[in-house]
Amino acid sequence: MKNNFSNIKKSKYYLDKNECIGIPTETVYGLAANAYSQKATSKIFKLKKRTKKNPLIVHYHNLKMLKNDCQTNAYFIKLYKKLCPGPITFVLRLKKSSNISKNVTNKKKTLAVRFPKHSVTRKLLKELKYPLAAPSANISSRISPVSKEDVKDEFGKKIKFIIDGGRSKIGLESTIVSLINKPQILRLGGIKVSIINKILKTRLKFKNKNKKIIIPGQGKIHYSPGIPIRLNIKKPKQYEAFMLIKKKKLSDKNFYYLSKTNNLKEAAKNLYKTMRIIKNKNFKCIAVEKIPNTGFGEVINDRLKRASAK
Ligand code: AMP
Ligand code: MG
Repeated sequence: MKNNFSNIKKSKYYLDKNECIGIPTETVYGLAANAYSQKATSKIFKLKKRTKKNPLIVHYHNLKMLKNDCQTNAYFIKLYKKLCPGPITFVLRLKKSSNISKNVTNKKKTLAVRFPKHSVTRKLLKELKYPLAAPSANISSRISPVSKEDVKDEFGKKIKFIIDGGRSKIGLESTIVSLINKPQILRLGGIKVSIINKILKTRLKFKNKNKKIIIPGQGKIHYSPGIPIRLNIKKPKQYEAFMLIKKKKLSDKNFYYLSKTNNLKEAAKNLYKTMRIIKNKNFKCIAVEKIPNTGFGEVINDRLKRASAK
């Protein structure tokens, strides 16, 4: 794994010139640009073919920098102290004096912020005079990337540089919690809701029954390999790839294990990687074994439901 200063220098060079680069994080790889620059952030939307209605998450190195842009509150401080840096995103009130580009917020008065844990990206953020807007480094609605190769698979030569930070440890996006009024879970992800509840001494639940889509991570088709997915399957059809979480006595060459021991955290880490491998093998359909709806299983099911939406 390359983790040397020249990588950081190269990244800073492109970012200072308002270019986008690929960055590793513990959740998934991001397509990063200067969050204060209209020009740089416009390029993210263009590359991803993303609607400007879908705001971006901004990545910070520390609290001091965040305070230039956002109002904090007691809920935030409690969660920040226990969980950051880590796979959790907070929606906070934007300060009037903030320099965050209007592209990033879709002109809203709120901002989604995160402190990524990956050591190389932390080193990079420390060197910059601005935070990084960074959505997942994939074309909108497709599978999120969990390695440098995946980012290349999405964008080819269209981006100037990708930092190789190895495989993303969590392999799924961050949990998003809105702290604007009462805390509210907006997206399931790398931090379990039960952990947030313990820290805040509340009983938040993820509600995704809103007809009105607030954020596209809550929308229907997302995280999609571009082929049909069938859920809760016991026996796959011959032409299907079969994703499993428990070792079977009989095996077949179309079997793809997310875990062999029913380990849901391991399965979450392998989900996007496996879907990308299956897609690139030109399978026409994916069948998925039933996945228990507990812990990380709930996150996997959330992503699979959206990936299989029509
Ligand atoms: P991604 O593009 O995969 O990084 O996902 C980022 C998610 O954060 C998207 O679903 C955004 O809509 C959501 N998001 C960003 N900013 C805000 C905000 N101010 N309020 C609510 N959600 C947000
Ligand atoms: Mg995304």
